[in-house]
Amino acid sequence: MVKQIEDKKPSRPSRAERAQKKLTDSKLSRVDKRSRTRGSKKAISSVAEIGGLSEKEVKAALLKQFQKSKIPTKIVPGNKKIYSGKSRTFEKKFSDKYWKDNPNAKCFKCNALLTPATRSIDHKVPWSKYCLSTDQQFVCSGGTHYEVALTEDFHDRFQDPKNLQPACQSCNSSKGGPKGNDGIAPRKLPLKDQTCPGPGCKLPKAV
Ligand SMILES: [Zn+2]
Ligand SMILES: [Zn+2]
Repeated sequence: MVKQIEDKKPSRPSRAERAQKKLTDSKLSRVDKRSRTRGSKKAISSVAEIGGLSEKEVKAALLKQFQKSKIPTKIVPGNKKIYSGKSRTFEKKFSDKYWKDNPNAKCFKCNALLTPATRSIDHKVPWSKYCLSTDQQFVCSGGTHYEVALTEDFHDRFQDPKNLQPACQSCNSSKGGPKGNDGIAPRKLPLKDQTCPGPGCKLPKAV
């Protein structure tokens, strides 16, 4: 019995394992394509020099760390919330005030007088474009670096009065907008730009 176990050779990866690897690889390359590359080579070689490692070893360590990390949801200390890229809604206190300030609002498009049952708030410049002007910052989460927006900065832009107009729900142009994550969802820096020096990392910590 014991002998049998010892004799067992490492088997070829199963179909499921190969599919998983393919998915991971394609995810990584997609992240790479979305990102900047300037200075990354230099940065990796400097991390290698500090740690007394080869560049290959640094890259292998980064890959391991990169694949393990979870998307952070808040910055600590201070517990500031990180915007997920998904919750595209107006805060209730904001929309309540908006309609209180615009009691006889008409639809910007069809001019219909709006009622609580028909009204909505429309973004003049579609959110998919407007979101890109939201403040973003780099953070370190367990040794992996991300570019993120704070929830409070998301609200500042999403609820920017300059970009809003009343609309009836059927005319609201945002209705057909893209679903899923928007352009300011937490974004892992590509592997080649992952240059965390470890405990001495100067970036804000996120969890
Ligand atoms: Zn309308
Ligand atoms: Zn770091």
